[in-house]
Amino acid sequence: MSKSIVRVTCGHPGCNEFARYEADNRKHSIDLYVRYGNGKWKCVRHSQPDEVLSSDNCKTVDEVKVIKHSQGLYWGKEKGFSGFAHGPGFKAFAKDFPPGTILRVTAEIIAPPHRHAQESGHE
Ligand SMILES: [Zn+2]
Repeated sequence: MSKSIVRVTCGHPGCNEFARYEADNRKHSIDLYVRYGNGKWKCVRHSQPDEVLSSDNCKTVDEVKVIKHSQGLYWGKEKGFSGFAHGPGFKAFAKDFPPGTILRVTAEIIAPPHRHAQESGHE
């Protein structure tokens, strides 16, 4: 059986973002379509709008905590998801810290400086 691609578009009215899922067979492609098709899938802009930075939403702060599991220490909220957290400019191993330690991640958009002064007289 050859693999096929299931393409679904964002359920938000007017949004053209889409996702592609690889299906192993016909049944899998139908399962994927039932799960994500017909507007059930939403792009990150429409599923997590609070986390999408913009000029109106120029700063986000999120926190994960070191949580102790039977298999070790993980970063997470209620449930641990990973022993290693990373982003631009940082990496953090949960096992390097005691349980309850918080990793606070701040992302901030800084607009470029206004350039009207240097560009006066163009055109
Ligand atoms: Zn969308």
